[in-house]
Formats: sequence, C-alpha cells, structure tokens
Amino acid sequence: MAKIDTAPGWPSFPAGDKTNLRALLAGLKVSQWWPEAELRAAQQAQLTWLAEWAANKVPYYQREKWPARVAARLAQNPQQFWDIWREIPTLSKPALRTLGPRLYARSIPSAQMPIVPIRTSGSTGIAVELRTTALTRRLWEALTLREHLWSQRDFSKRLGVLRSRKGSRETDGKVQPNWGAPVAPLFPSGPSSAMRISRPVDEVAAWLKDFDPHYLLTYPTIVPWLMDHMAAAGDRPQSLREIRFISEPLDKDLETRLAREWQIRSTDIYSAREVGYIAFRCLEHGALHVQSESMLVEIINAEGLPCAPGESGRVVLTALHNLASPLLRYDIGDYATAGEPCPCGRGLPVISQILGRTRNAALSPDGRRYWPSSLNKIASSSPIKQAQYVQTAIDTIEIRAVLSRPLREQEQLDIVQATIKTLGHPYKVMVVPVSEISRGAGGKFEEFLSLLPELQN
Ligand SMILES: [Zn+2]
Repeated sequence: MAKIDTAPGWPSFPAGDKTNLRALLAGLKVSQWWPEAELRAAQQAQLTWLAEWAANKVPYYQREKWPARVAARLAQNPQQFWDIWREIPTLSKPALRTLGPRLYARSIPSAQMPIVPIRTSGSTGIAVELRTTALTRRLWEALTLREHLWSQRDFSKRLGVLRSRKGSRETDGKVQPNWGAPVAPLFPSGPSSAMRISRPVDEVAAWLKDFDPHYLLTYPTIVPWLMDHMAAAGDRPQSLREIRFISEPLDKDLETRLAREWQIRSTDIYSAREVGYIAFRCLEHGALHVQSESMLVEIINAEGLPCAPGESGRVVLTALHNLASPLLRYDIGDYATAGEPCPCGRGLPVISQILGRTRNAALSPDGRRYWPSSLNKIASSSPIKQAQYVQTAIDTIEIRAVLSRPLREQEQLDIVQATIKTLGHPYKVMVVPVSEISRGAGGKFEEFLSLLPELQN
C-alpha cells in the first residue's frame, strides 16, 4: 500500500508556503504549451493512480466490486486506457447527494492536510458537502493566477468584486489596500473592494461610481439592470475596462451590449464548487481552454462516446488531485460543444460552447431541446423589474415577474408576443406577478428554468 501514499510526479504539486505557489505557477506556464497527446499521457498516469486510490481508500468505491477491477486493468493496459476509463459509470448529482460521506477518503497523505469541507447547495436546495485539501486549494490559487496572467490584467489597477459574500454587511464596499490572495502574496497590487450582490441596485451603482474599478468580477444577470439604472441617470463607470463573469452562462447579447455601450471586454470562467476550475479563455482567440493539469473534461454523446469537434454532449468531470473526496466521472448536468484545437498553440483542449444546465434548457412543443438566449431584452422597457421564465409544461411558459405597477393590457400582449418570438415557438405564455425572485445557491440567478421532469438533474 506504500505505493499509493505518494502521488506520481505530474504535475509536481508542493503544498506549502508562497515559494511553492510560485513554483506551481511556473510549472503551469510550461505545461500549457505541451501538445495535447503529452497532456493526455500525463493525465492517464494521474487517473490510473486516482482510480486505485479511490478503490482503496473511499468507502463507496471500496464497497462496489468494479473499482478495484477497473483500477487494475487501467494500470495493466495503458494502450486501452481510454476505452477502459469509459466503462466507469458516470456519477450524477442526485447520486452525489445520496452518497454524501461515503465519498470521503478514510485518510489523506499528511502533506495534503488539513481537509476543509465545502458546501455546495445544489439548485434543488439540498446541500452536498465535499472536501478540499491543502493541495486542491493551492491548485485553485495557482489557476486563479494563471487566469489573471492569461488575461494580462494590470495588478496595479483597482479591482471590484460584486457577488454573494459572507461576513459583516459593514465591510460591503470598503476599500482594501490590495487584491488579496492569491495575487497579493506574489505581486504588488492596487486597491480592491467587494460589494454584496443582494444590495439594492442604486447602492451598487453608487459604489461602482465612487470606487471606479478598472476590473469587475460579477454574475451576468446583474449587469443589464445595472446598465439600465446608470444609463437612466446619464452615467457609466469611468475606468472600467473588463468584466470577468462567473457562475452563470454569459449571453452573447450582453457581451455585445457591454462592448457597444461601455466599450469594455467581457470574459467568463467555467468552474464548479464541487470540482474547481474547469476552463478559462485565452486572450489571443477567446477559446475556452480546459485546465488539463487539474481536470479531465469529457464531453460525451448519447452513446457515451467522446464528441468530435462541433458535436454537443454531456460534460463529465474528474478532478485529478482531490484525494479527500474523489469523484470519478462526475456528470455535472451541463451540456457543451467540443472545440477544435486553438491556434494560440496551447495544447489544452477547447470547449467551443457551454450550452448550459439541463434544468435551464427549454423543450420546444415538438420535443427539441435548446437553451434560450436574449431573454433579458423581452421586458426591458416595461414595468417588469425582474423576470424569470419557467417552462411548466411542454407548451406553456410562465413569466414570474416583479412589477413596479400592474401591467396594462397592451403591455401584457406585447410581452407574450415578444416571448414567443424570442423563444421561436408558439407557447401559451402567462405573466404571474411575484413579490421577489430569489437567487439560488452561490448567488446564481436562473433566467430560464424548466420544471419538466425530463430536464431535472
Ligand atoms: Zn487559445
């Protein structure tokens, strides 16, 4: 058993002080240029080891019969590795919730202590607790830095953060002397300020005007309201040059609007609390590159085979280095399209598009699945302050709307028509006034939500 207590040499991940973070970052600077075949070979070694680790240390994988057999075959047949790998059943979100602590390793190497629990309350509201290690947290920091460096951000500028946050409300909007971890320990940096997303839009706009960040980190769904609010006052952020979006899919229309009205760049990050960073965009071509040193991303079709470039399928993830709660082939519930290699030269594979969560997909009355876009334009000049579009039956869309005053008959008709036009199908559409629409886990706002049983995950 001695063999499985030491991880293989790739990537070499020391966990410890800041010189190690620097070393890890330097290693990532090199491996991003490796050819894809070389990255896959390195992943193969790590995955072989991870499967063995899970089979030996994790109650769920120990109790099942297949993991030990699969782990042995992966080690013995490196030529057939990927065929054998795909025999591993995917692990769904509901399974994750059911298994809970049975996915925790009985122990981890002392160098990777301490274990810290992370809570991911899924969109259904049932919390799942997973675990991070010193190594996975250090890797998160290194990849955060990699993303900054890829985007060539100037750390001396002001950073604004607008998201759900814990801690005292008194600290909302306070100016901090630097960007905080993981930037500040390695690089001199300018001031930063964080604001709670649940604050009223006028307070958020005032903060944006006063602090005047060069860079902003936030969720896509808040931005159109903020733009409308500031435009109504004849205002706009003066220094802002880029918004980095997290948590929700970035709508192409919003990206275009930001470029046109505020002349700023948008970028988005694909990550999930359960597993960590999944993909970042390169500055050169805007391609979404898989973070292969940390994550195996499989995009698989209905037959379970890898999608060719241009083909769409389910996203299946394996975090390579989480020994505390290893998930083999986790089906996160997203759909994405596989991409061609990027001309920037990085070997890190490309996701050409993230289509979205299954529960945020719509079904057309003739049964085709699609992900609605441009919904935020529908009610932009009406008394609807906020809206959520909910598919309650195959032919029915309910618009849950927060209204500043009751809708006039013509306004109601216009919104119904605009919804049918935007969605492209003749649904029955009804507007249902509500007092508020709450953000879900992690501040996520679901603009389109399906209640159809076939789209739940
Ligand atoms: Zn690229």
